[in-house]
Amino acid sequence: MTTTAIVNVGAMVSGDVRAPLHRATGVLIENGRIAAVGPDEAAVARAGTVIDARGMTLIPGLIDSHTHPAIGDFTPRLNTVGWIDSYLHGGVTSMVSTGELHVPGRPRDPAGIKALAILAAKSFKNARPSGVKVMGGTLVLEPGLKEADFAEVAAQGVKAVKFIQEITDRAEAIQFSKWAKAHGLKVLIHCGGTSLPDVPTTTAKTIMEIEPDVLAHLNGGPTSLSFDDIDRLIRQTPWIIDLVRFGNPRAVFMMVKTILEIDALERVVLGTDSPTGNGMEPLGMLHLITFLASCTALPAPEAVCMATGNTARVYGFDTGFIAPGRAADLALIDAARGSYAPGALEAFALGDSPAVAMVMIDGEMVVTKSKMTVPTQRSYTLVRKG
Ligand SMILES: [Zn+2]
Repeated sequence: MTTTAIVNVGAMVSGDVRAPLHRATGVLIENGRIAAVGPDEAAVARAGTVIDARGMTLIPGLIDSHTHPAIGDFTPRLNTVGWIDSYLHGGVTSMVSTGELHVPGRPRDPAGIKALAILAAKSFKNARPSGVKVMGGTLVLEPGLKEADFAEVAAQGVKAVKFIQEITDRAEAIQFSKWAKAHGLKVLIHCGGTSLPDVPTTTAKTIMEIEPDVLAHLNGGPTSLSFDDIDRLIRQTPWIIDLVRFGNPRAVFMMVKTILEIDALERVVLGTDSPTGNGMEPLGMLHLITFLASCTALPAPEAVCMATGNTARVYGFDTGFIAPGRAADLALIDAARGSYAPGALEAFALGDSPAVAMVMIDGEMVVTKSKMTVPTQRSYTLVRKG
């Protein structure tokens, strides 16, 4: 059995948006899973590996709720290899694909879209780029699908479907949503203006007819719905609110006010909506949390939970919380060197994006020094290596 203890943690974010901070100063990891939060001294003494966090902040590995991968660690839209590895160095240990939209020659017929979704789901399941857990293979809906198609992709490991095109036949769109849910697939819907040349703009009215599970980039992708429509969708539906880095920042500002007013913290998940034509942003998740914690009334620990535990709950990831039994996907972060903030949570609130010291996936240290952030103020020490 491999056992690792992380001790002398300053602040520890739980992933639970209703109880975002643990009081504990250490965790015990056994065989890649969290075994104890606040382990006793005897357990730490027995651990093969001991990491002294020296007062830094431990958070669950970030889960990017909105990405557009292709296959493997390559994005053809930007001709870039290794973007997922770069995101890992920004503290991201899991990602949700909201459609492999940039695959060259992306098919648009039922047989082709099914094949692509199944291929992406299986490819990412079999090969994790740099260890990052990618939920790949979101089926991008096109006219002509039958119920058997939804059953088939679900049986082959596809977990979600997405409306990016306003299917012109409303009855067909509503039927698709019902079939997807009947086969256990999450229904995502593009909210906002046109991000691809042939995709019409959606509105609150059409979105409400379809009854999705997730309001994908409700703050716009890249342009937003009218603020009245966004407000209606937050207040009048129970659906998941996906906020993204590459959306409309003013919409985010307005949305957070409503979310706090109606106390809908569990409904919010955070993502980047990248890589796209907007670019790649390896630190995009940290930057979005920093924006929320410094420019809105949302506290930093809650914002981190929206980027971890909330997303894990929505998509069924076995991670996202620092809690016994969960996969030990963790990031050790701190205020960046040069920041006036004394720690990572204060840095988020101040508007200085924190830096990443170490990232762990399934209990393995996969980043020992981030190649993407500036150095942290403090450094952890490896007391013992088992
Ligand atoms: Zn998107």
